[in-house]
Amino acid sequence: MSKTSPKTRRKKNQANAFDQLAEITSNLWWTWQPQLAPLFQSLNPRAYESANQNPIVALRTCKAARRRALEADPQFVQFVGRAHRELREYLRARTWYAKTHRTQANANVAYFCMEYAVHESLPLYAGGLGVLAGDHLKSASDLGLPFVAVGIYWKRGYGRQRINSAGKQVSGEQLIKPEDTPFSEVRKSGGRPWRLRLAMGSDRVTVRAWRADVGRVPLYLLDTDMPANKPRDRKLTHTLYSGDRDTRIRQEILLGIGGWQLLRALKIPVGACHLNEGHAAFLSLERIAERMKDCGETFAQALRYVRNTSVFTTHTPVPAGNEEFDPALVDHYLSTYQRELKLDHEAFHNLARVKPDNAKENFGMTPLALRTSRYANGVAKLHGEIARKMWSGIFPNKKTSDVPIGHVTNGIHLKTWLHPAMNELLREHLGENWAENQDRNATWKRATRIPNEALWNLHAQFKSELIEFCRQRIERQLRRDPVRGMKLSDVKNILDPNALTIGFARRFATYKRATLIFSDPARLAKILNDKKTPVQLIFAGKAHPADTEGQAFVAEVVRISRMPRFRNRVVFLEDYDMNVARHMVAGVDVWLNNPKRPHEASGTSGMKPALHGGLNLSILDGWWPEGFNGKNGWKIGAGQDHRGTTKDDQRDVASLYKTLEKEVVPLYFKRAHGDVPTDWLARMKNAIQTIPPVFNSHRQVRQYLTKYYLPALKKA
Ligand SMILES: *Cc1c(COP(=O)(O)O)cnc(C)c1O
Repeated sequence: MSKTSPKTRRKKNQANAFDQLAEITSNLWWTWQPQLAPLFQSLNPRAYESANQNPIVALRTCKAARRRALEADPQFVQFVGRAHRELREYLRARTWYAKTHRTQANANVAYFCMEYAVHESLPLYAGGLGVLAGDHLKSASDLGLPFVAVGIYWKRGYGRQRINSAGKQVSGEQLIKPEDTPFSEVRKSGGRPWRLRLAMGSDRVTVRAWRADVGRVPLYLLDTDMPANKPRDRKLTHTLYSGDRDTRIRQEILLGIGGWQLLRALKIPVGACHLNEGHAAFLSLERIAERMKDCGETFAQALRYVRNTSVFTTHTPVPAGNEEFDPALVDHYLSTYQRELKLDHEAFHNLARVKPDNAKENFGMTPLALRTSRYANGVAKLHGEIARKMWSGIFPNKKTSDVPIGHVTNGIHLKTWLHPAMNELLREHLGENWAENQDRNATWKRATRIPNEALWNLHAQFKSELIEFCRQRIERQLRRDPVRGMKLSDVKNILDPNALTIGFARRFATYKRATLIFSDPARLAKILNDKKTPVQLIFAGKAHPADTEGQAFVAEVVRISRMPRFRNRVVFLEDYDMNVARHMVAGVDVWLNNPKRPHEASGTSGMKPALHGGLNLSILDGWWPEGFNGKNGWKIGAGQDHRGTTKDDQRDVASLYKTLEKEVVPLYFKRAHGDVPTDWLARMKNAIQTIPPVFNSHRQVRQYLTKYYLPALKKA
């Protein structure tokens, strides 16, 4: 026993709370422990918020006096101690995978993706693809899959969005400094930083890497922003989806080829590769070349091996969304592979063409990925069908229905998207362990037990929080960029807690038709401004800085939100990110989704409100044909495809207005028993019962495991 006095012993414990906090914030596990947010915030509220809820910044900037006060607060110390214990237990626990797949080989699945959305303080993402990848990693960690991920450290993230006085989107940059992240630089066993001299055509680019831990899953992020590189090479990893074709191909060489060389250098055993979208498809070329070199295999043998151990997920039915490169650009950067693969020029390019020997075709990353992956899938049932049709040319001997592209419908990581107070309600009524049993229907059936009043009151609380958030954001925006005729003192009148609240938030890609609901302003004004049955709309979303049409959509929504007759009923929130999304999905009554069918591969945003009882009002596109059951939301239209005419838009918007006027609004305001809308609540509960058990990322990851990862791992 040590002879420390009680006083020094207490000192030791006190010092521990901050050490423990440092350990907690070093693993991104905290990103799905939303109950910890108030704790992080208490360290330094201003710094925490201005860094997008970044706990590392809050911890580093916590003032000495504040730190002493917190150290003397037994509740704080206890709370930190509990979180610290939970993290350690999480990392130590025997996982679902370990329990159920004891005899499996332990080689990893290596997951490659251009973007990852793990938390808003690490903006390494643009939209749905990143959110899906982030949620996938979190579930892979929770379930304990042998898993490693590779991406890029986008040091200037993806553009921040400001709305200026004129109502236009202005894109700004942000610097993500390593010291503000939990990233640690990857080192060799001797401790020296790992460096790669990566060939890009005749050039050599120096690459380093950072490691982030997403629970149990290591995420490696490649980085070329180093003094050793020329300015144009340093810029490669500055911003996601920016730059010209030349930049883009080099970014994809970095991800696929650089990423593979990193895993090799770290001697991480890899049994299968998952190419999440075509951006990473150069990976296959590198793996084939390596097999030929190291194992003396022929091209055909090496291709067979790589195919058997590759999984490819395609994410977009929009042709322009499928990456392709000018063949000359590919020759410039990748002609060494033609030699290493011992192929002639045409045979090499045929790997990335739909139709062999068609010299008019560009070098397609999706065909390349499909030709080098035995396992391929779309991200919803409908998308699987579309993808089979779209790529049937690659499989000329097969009927469309036999094209080897399946589907795994996307899901969301529930703990990431769940409001902490909703988590408490679920714990109370579904059971403490609801999350472990999240893909069982029986777990969610119990939602009938939630008392109507409890659910309604909680929902009202979420809606007030959302409205408060909107007002603060608008006020901040108006202080920075004043708008003629809009006074700060009027901000408090924006939005009404009693109004039916509809949310629409997504990237402003044009196929998503953000402005569709404004097609008939007079009719919409009537719906919104009815004194007895008020309705309001909250929008958010970024357009890509190069997408002028998408930016015009943003400007149009902002313009309408500033018109006197819509002013307090239509809001555009700037800078859509995971934080804005979290506020919106908890607080809205209805989630609107009106893409041109079948352009939405899956969409995941509508799954997030459903978890809180929000009701989807959506075109039957993406995941919704699988999710909709007649009682957990509404459909717009009858599942007709959009053939590119204004008639199709008119048909869809007519259905949207009619459904709003005849069904959604009357049901919401039907109040037979006091102020509680019983029939509406029945729908809310139906949504909670039927959507989360299916559209969660645990189910998604388990399906990838059984359909693709395990068969691929067996062939390694
Ligand atoms: C969920 C989410 C998405 C995905 O939205 P979809 O339009 O449904 O694909 C995109 N961005 C953010 C910030 C999200 O939270």
